[in-house]
Amino acid sequence: MNLPVVPKKSLGQNFLNSERVLVRIAEATKLSKDDTVLEIGPGLGALTAKLLETAGKVIAVEKDDTLYSILSEKFAKQIKSGQLTLINQDIQDFDPKTLKKGYKLAANIPYNLTGLIIRNFLSGHYQPEIMVLLVQKEVVDRILAHDGKESLLSISVKVYGTPKRITNVARGNFNPVPRVDSAVFSVENISRDRFISPEFEDLFFKVIHAGFGHKRKMLVRNLIDEQFGTRELWEIEFPKRSLKTTIRSEELTVDDWIFITNVLYNNH
Ligand code: SAM
Repeated sequence: MNLPVVPKKSLGQNFLNSERVLVRIAEATKLSKDDTVLEIGPGLGALTAKLLETAGKVIAVEKDDTLYSILSEKFAKQIKSGQLTLINQDIQDFDPKTLKKGYKLAANIPYNLTGLIIRNFLSGHYQPEIMVLLVQKEVVDRILAHDGKESLLSISVKVYGTPKRITNVARGNFNPVPRVDSAVFSVENISRDRFISPEFEDLFFKVIHAGFGHKRKMLVRNLIDEQFGTRELWEIEFPKRSLKTTIRSEELTVDDWIFITNVLYNNH
């Protein structure tokens, strides 16, 4: 397929050309006519068109001026009817507060923004109800702890919701063809219910950062080094949850981290 633009590498422009994957993303977003969906980086509008088939409203934020012009023309009818709002902006400057509460998020995002988008939308004040993203396959493998090892990323996602792989996407499904394979994943049931207060949420992230600070060390060593409790404290507390004091951070579940945060929260 010939593209109507020269793709910009700096904006991660790899356009999806698989109908199967577009359908899987739209289905995973579980849209109805009552829903507002935010799309990041609509590009040439392949996913936008799919989302418009089922969503009540689509808000699409595209940074590239040329693509914004193309999209404005292509979707003139939907823009006029109010079903589509097209915004020519960097997603980093976009304030989700302008969206209806309980909005959904769907996107094939540029690789360099993956971490930022996952972080900002999951931990932001205006969380989406559900998030469906097409990202590098390796990122999805890590979020789902494919190798049995949890990480800072996997715990940071799982504490807010339930991640699931929707489908893998081979690199040949994009134009131009990227250097790595991709995958679609969703996060459902997004909330901050696991945190009893903003201070607890704050402490939780400090604790997991400390815990994953030095991979080779045991968890207790990492916690003590960062002034999170003493050996004596953890020798009393860990057995209460049947955790060995020799455990490594990658072996802990979200519930274990919540337990550790609770001990510290109640001790200060
Ligand atoms: N959604 C289209 C598709 O599936 O074919 C395009 C996906 S392409 C991987 C990423 C899109 O994000 C491009 O259209 C690019 O211009 C846009 N983009 C890159 N950085 C952005 C940013 N900071 N804010 C908003 N859009 C951005």
